[in-house]
Amino acid sequence: MSSVRSPLIRRAAALASGFALAFGAALAVPTAAHASPDYGPAAWVPASTSNYTDASRETDYNINYVVIHTIQGSYTSAINWFQNPSAQVSAHYVVSKTGAVTQMVRESDIAWHAGNWTYNTQSIGIEHEGYVEQDGWYTEEMYQASAAIVRSVTSKYGIPRDRAHIIGHNEVPGATHTDPGSKWNWTYFMQLVNGTTPPSWSQTVDNTTAGRFTASASWGTSTYSTQRYGADYRYADPVAASDPAWYKFNIPATASYKVEVWYPALPGYNNSTPYVIATTGGNQSVAVNQQATGGSWRTLGTFTLAAGDYNAVGVSRWTSGTGYVIADAVRLTRV
Ligand SMILES: [Zn+2]
Repeated sequence: MSSVRSPLIRRAAALASGFALAFGAALAVPTAAHASPDYGPAAWVPASTSNYTDASRETDYNINYVVIHTIQGSYTSAINWFQNPSAQVSAHYVVSKTGAVTQMVRESDIAWHAGNWTYNTQSIGIEHEGYVEQDGWYTEEMYQASAAIVRSVTSKYGIPRDRAHIIGHNEVPGATHTDPGSKWNWTYFMQLVNGTTPPSWSQTVDNTTAGRFTASASWGTSTYSTQRYGADYRYADPVAASDPAWYKFNIPATASYKVEVWYPALPGYNNSTPYVIATTGGNQSVAVNQQATGGSWRTLGTFTLAAGDYNAVGVSRWTSGTGYVIADAVRLTRV
């Protein structure tokens, strides 16, 4: 491999920069992409054999790194360019803004993406649609799709899932490139890679949240307990009628959501306050003892909620319990 080392480095370094500009004669993206040979979710569109080095990794080279790139162009432009024999660059995977994935070089072969022969031989290269300097290209769908590739290859080749081994092109020794740049959220990406991502969606509605809380005039307002969430909270006597206080949420997708409630606790508050959750299977009621465990988020359970902007959680006054029913804050989190 030493005989091709220098030319490869020079070509990769010279041509990887701004290949969108160099991309002139468009090659059509094959309409009938085959299944990826190494990674199930990907389509397979092989790069020109002029654009990578045949190898038998990990027999001849260990795979120790994943290198994250930005195309400086569209998904299609990268797929076209890597098929062009004059490109002299390639990557194993290309990921689109919408989360589509195309494999173009076998993982066992050496793609030319890092501008550093040693790193090329030891890495998997992933190109991402978009431009380093522009907002809006690194989408949730892209992060999810890319992290799934990284989970696959790190598992296959025993690559540690840390930032010493999952690196940006800018972190390759000698790199003159800046991709993926400051808009790439490494913290979030590594959480996805490691399966420690925080839940993707959460919304809190307090009784003071504009446009998202409704209650009849029978509900009073209090600042009495310092365990309250926000400025104040609402309270009402129990009655044999629902007259609920409602919390309206803008729920992004029909999915499972954790429902948590916050209320101040006092001995004079209700020992069986009915929280009503509008699930896809109808309203469900969960009784909460508001005489204890106040001043923190308390989980009512996980429920399937439909997408839409509607009153998803309520506090009913209809209870056989004694004491004021309290409506303070509610939080939904997608799980
Ligand atoms: Zn790059």
